[in-house]
Amino acid sequence: MDFSFTEDDEMVRQTAREFVKKYILPKRDKIAYGNKIPDEIIKAASDAGFLGFNISEKYGGAGGSIHQMSIIVEELARGDVSMALPVYVLLLNGWPLMLEKYGSEEAKEEILPSVLKGRTFFGIGSTEPSGGSDVMSEKTNATFRNGKWVASGEKVFISGVREALELPGGGGFLTLMRTSDPSLGSKSFTTFAFMLKDVRGNLNKEISTTVFNNIAREGLSTGGFSFSDIEIDDKYKVGDAGKGFQIIMEGFNVARIYVAAACNGAASEAIDMGIDHMRTRKLFGQPLGRQEGLQFELSELYAKLQSSRLLTQKAAWTLDRVYKDKEKLPMSEQNLAVSMAKMTAPPTAHEIITKVMVWHGAMAYTKDTPLGAAQGGVMSYYIGAEGGINIMKLIIARELLGKEFLSYKS
Ligand SMILES: Cc1cc2nc3c(=O)[nH]c(=O)nc-3n(C[C@H](O)[C@H](O)[C@H](O)COP(=O)(O)OP(=O)(O)OC[C@H]3O[C@@H](n4cnc5c(N)ncnc54)[C@H](O)[C@@H]3O)c2cc1C
Repeated sequence: MDFSFTEDDEMVRQTAREFVKKYILPKRDKIAYGNKIPDEIIKAASDAGFLGFNISEKYGGAGGSIHQMSIIVEELARGDVSMALPVYVLLLNGWPLMLEKYGSEEAKEEILPSVLKGRTFFGIGSTEPSGGSDVMSEKTNATFRNGKWVASGEKVFISGVREALELPGGGGFLTLMRTSDPSLGSKSFTTFAFMLKDVRGNLNKEISTTVFNNIAREGLSTGGFSFSDIEIDDKYKVGDAGKGFQIIMEGFNVARIYVAAACNGAASEAIDMGIDHMRTRKLFGQPLGRQEGLQFELSELYAKLQSSRLLTQKAAWTLDRVYKDKEKLPMSEQNLAVSMAKMTAPPTAHEIITKVMVWHGAMAYTKDTPLGAAQGGVMSYYIGAEGGINIMKLIIARELLGKEFLSYKS
């Protein structure tokens, strides 16, 4: 057992730290509250190799490990605690990775290099009005007719809709659609690379879109899209028909590690701010940090943060055995490692940030500190983005007790 990071890992961390200093910190508030990540930051993230870091060199990526990508995301979230940029970057690793693994050569050559250049967005389109947790109830469907897929449906609360519409190379989503009889259960779904605007910048006018008014993480949008009897070329089918559910669950496992890493990053930044505040804020004639009650809180929160980071690092190491070392690891082992990390990191980060806000007193209730932005950013993952906390608990219990114990199956 060796908990140390390699020299290469440390170099990756250093690169991300320098990126934060140079590009994020000067524009931190603009990212958090400005309804857009500035173009030059997306361009810089692409130049630094953060977009599609996991994608192979063939399409312009670095073929980097999940562990190192987690380091990058953690550092980016220390800089942008609103989570907009780290989430932008993490989505553009996890979901293009599924496109690379399962997509047609034509679709990959068209979309991946453009994503890596920062011209095109590519996220995940799973959630529907019927409930994001209950994927089986989803109704968006596609039928294969005369050599094309004909699709209808609606997706909501999808990260990156505004970005897919506004970026010069457009964007789309690995979108889950039902392609056969619902009685086939999880085998009735197929995934498509569904583009709202193509890489040449042509908007698909048959798709209606909406953008929601988020309470936080304003630099990266959530929105929805709906369409009726729209044609999709077969080259955009990702994976075999009937394998869609499996593919998005695999993608969620990768993305959930990055989500956990981002939450740990925002929480690390908050705890550092808390330590600094305790050292410098003087009340009743002495620094706040001399109060034993607050020291106890700090010690407990620090240990919780380190436990969360260890769970995330273990999950990244587990999936690297699959993606990097090509080991055939049982899904149950992967699911357990990932779900424990995603179950732990958002509530831990939320607890830490909230406590640090309390330590700061009234100034935490203003936008002069980034703590409110951090609390809102982390909340998105507490509520449910990339799978709710209770859903992580259901997965863990399923792996421990067996599928027959799933509470929602009769
Ligand atoms: C900021 C943000 C960004 C998002 N981005 C995307 C995206 O890019 N792509 C995408 O597809 N989706 C996205 N989502 C949607 C997200 O995946 C869903 O919010 C999530 O799956 C939960 O679905 P829901 O919101 O419909 O809540 P519901 O499914 O209605 O669940 C409500 C609550 O009930 C809990 N719950 C559900 N079932 C059970 C159960 N059996 N037992 C106990 N508790 C249960 C859930 O954990 C949750 O807390 C995003 C959400 C947010 C907030």
